[in-house]
Amino acid sequence: MITTKSYAAQQAKATLASWNFERREPGPHDIQIEILFCGVCHSDLHQVRDEWGGSIFPMVPGHEIVGRVTKVGSQVKKFKAGELAGVGCLVDSCRTCNNCKQGLEQYCTNGHSPTYNGYEQDKKTPTYGGYSNTIVVHEDFVLHISDKLSLQGVAPLLCAGITTYSPLRHWKVGKGHKVAVLGLGGLGHMAVKFAAAFGAEVTMLSTSPSKEADAKKLGAHKFILTSKKENLNPVKGYFDYIIDTVSAPHDYNLYLSLLGTNGVQICVGAPPSPTEIFGFNLIGGRRSLAGSLIGGLPETQEMLDYCAEHNIVSDIELISIKDIEKAYERMLKGDVRYRFVIDMSTL
Ligand code: NAP
Ligand code: ZN
Ligand code: ZN
Repeated sequence: MITTKSYAAQQAKATLASWNFERREPGPHDIQIEILFCGVCHSDLHQVRDEWGGSIFPMVPGHEIVGRVTKVGSQVKKFKAGELAGVGCLVDSCRTCNNCKQGLEQYCTNGHSPTYNGYEQDKKTPTYGGYSNTIVVHEDFVLHISDKLSLQGVAPLLCAGITTYSPLRHWKVGKGHKVAVLGLGGLGHMAVKFAAAFGAEVTMLSTSPSKEADAKKLGAHKFILTSKKENLNPVKGYFDYIIDTVSAPHDYNLYLSLLGTNGVQICVGAPPSPTEIFGFNLIGGRRSLAGSLIGGLPETQEMLDYCAEHNIVSDIELISIKDIEKAYERMLKGDVRYRFVIDMSTL
């Protein structure tokens, strides 16, 4: 077994602190990675505080992992020791269901293995995430990382990147589309970058006036401050798509009314409580309310390759692991510019 250093929560809402645990030695198809950087996703916070229910403790959060391969199993073909590697939100799935066969492992009907706060496919060995110094993962769930990009800026692509890339590709968003991005945090800033790169007209809908200049630098063509509802009047019925990244409860009806005929509001943000939808907001204009979960392995590699080709990384603030609670507090206030990434050498 491999003794692994980490930062973990021992119970819901507990402060994260040092914790050692054991990972398996790499099997024939496994890869061991020394973790260099790990992004901080709002999902880490939701789960550490058990806001969605069913959290498993002790919990080592972190699913935006980049590092260097230190060891490969005897049958591994995809990687060699010394190469860069990434791990996102998934570490395994059944591989046999229809979704897995299509590379949609995130929708595995037999239950995927999340990188943390879940179980391996034996359904009893807990998984522990990237706020740790090393991880062992089956080669099929490890991504190739280009050495052309800043490694710390690449880490958030493994969740924030793929979660916004995947729906934009699924709905074929591009030239001629008017897209709104709701919420300028980790996911939101990647949604702006991708939607602009794909040729859409992008409008940032934000509660933070201080983010206007940044939104434009990230590629947004327009910025609307949502805290004054009347600011939204000129864009009623205007958008083809809204990518909703908001982490806290909010009024979906208000934003549905901004969609034109056949418009789609795509929810990627996962607020912890349910919401009420007025049917008329969907009926009028044949609108849809949709959702999307991260992305499968083939599409995640496609997104990483696209980013390497187009020089796209996340805008990050590098933090020391001891500042993780401060980062969570700032995240709760919407004060993220635009992803915290932990320098794992500080563990
Ligand atoms: P984040 O960095 O904290 O960004 C969320 C942004 O939402 C904030 O920066 C803020 O932007 C806005 N916001 C926050 N509270 C708000 C409120 N009460 N009303 C209106 N806007 C508010 O979070 P993230 O890491 O991007 O994650 C966003 C959500 O997506 C979380 O719920 C997370 O769990 C979820 N998620 C889902 C998936 C998936 O597969 N679907 C994957 C990853 C994360 P402004 O300052 O611009 O208003
Ligand atoms: Zn995430
Ligand atoms: Zn499956």
